[in-house]
Amino acid sequence: MTTGMFDAAERVRNLPPYLFAEIDRKISALKAQGTDVISFGVGDPDFPTPSHVIDALKEAAEDPSTHQYPSYFGMPAFRAAVSGWMEGRFGVSLDPDTQVLPLWGSKEGIAHLPFALIDPGDVALCSDPGYPVYDTSTRLAGGEPVPVPCLREDGFLPRLSEIDRDLADRAKILWLNYPGNPTSATCDLAFFEEAVDFCRRHRILLAHDAAYSEITYDGYVAPSVLEVPGATDIAVEFHSMSKTYNMTGWRLGWLCGSAEAIEALGRLKTNLDSGVFNAIQRASIAALEGPRDFLDAQLKVLTGRRDRTVEALRACGLDATAPKGSFYIWVPVPDGETSAGFATRMLDDAAVAITPGSGYGQHGEGYVRFSLTLPDDRLDEGLSRIREAFGR
Ligand SMILES: *Cc1c(COP(=O)(O)O)cnc(C)c1O
Repeated sequence: MTTGMFDAAERVRNLPPYLFAEIDRKISALKAQGTDVISFGVGDPDFPTPSHVIDALKEAAEDPSTHQYPSYFGMPAFRAAVSGWMEGRFGVSLDPDTQVLPLWGSKEGIAHLPFALIDPGDVALCSDPGYPVYDTSTRLAGGEPVPVPCLREDGFLPRLSEIDRDLADRAKILWLNYPGNPTSATCDLAFFEEAVDFCRRHRILLAHDAAYSEITYDGYVAPSVLEVPGATDIAVEFHSMSKTYNMTGWRLGWLCGSAEAIEALGRLKTNLDSGVFNAIQRASIAALEGPRDFLDAQLKVLTGRRDRTVEALRACGLDATAPKGSFYIWVPVPDGETSAGFATRMLDDAAVAITPGSGYGQHGEGYVRFSLTLPDDRLDEGLSRIREAFGR
């Protein structure tokens, strides 16, 4: 109910409109009618958190020392576990005291980094299509987000050498994300070398979102941007417990890399929050230092879902390809249709919900995103409904 007593602040009123309101209304209406809508929309693992992590949480929660305020900068043991994990996984050496900062999930840090680095008028270069928070957080901090096109013909990598020089000189942050959401694109270390070089020349902080670094297939191993020699001077990387360890609900991630950027964000955050529950940090140490076999088993399941989805979409005449990373299939819509139009048609004809690409930036128009994080039987039922809707 609107009383007219208060207006939201201009910065909130100026946020981009929520693009999927109409589709969401339609989903709710269908569900209210009793239609069984199958959702390929949400990127949230359907597997449970590994039991050894839950056990560690229970034990830590019983320990009263975890009940008091945590440190702003995280438990030294958690930061040490992170630097050990980065060393083991990528061969990257980090000082746990100055080059690692825990976050309330990586989204929190992504949203706050611009407040630590961007002044009004400063530019952030945002991969387009990309995770919407890069753009909105820049806006909220008073900066100017500039989309950098990531096109299919380039493997969804930006053409850094074509970015206008003056624009690059005004930029403070470049946002990258490989394996990517929504594009599922991956990159090699040579691309990161080029990006580090570009950022160094223009004095831009390279902010790489590595949320999907462990969700990879077919033997592909995702690199860290911090593997590039000297990158810790100019780059930071966001990591998350969410996708790797099925911990989206727990809210823990970290930022690592440039000590200067970490100092700035850490200083800002001492004014915003009071650290992450120590029991969650202790459970996450158990995750980072524990066995990885659960992940291999899951990646096998996801590979099967990926392959069945690509096969079904190709049977429908869609130009789907199997990605090497993330748990999304990013596919062009049929000629003459829009992202939202196609998503609405799939909802009407197949009672299947997918995400229109237009929600991820102007270059996402013409694509839709299928997430693979639904149980096998639901996924297969959804795929057979789609084939039926296409008469295949
Ligand atoms: C899921 C996701 C995140 C991680 O979010 P958390 O806040 O760590 O749960 C970050 N970036 C992208 C692109 C994502 O898809």
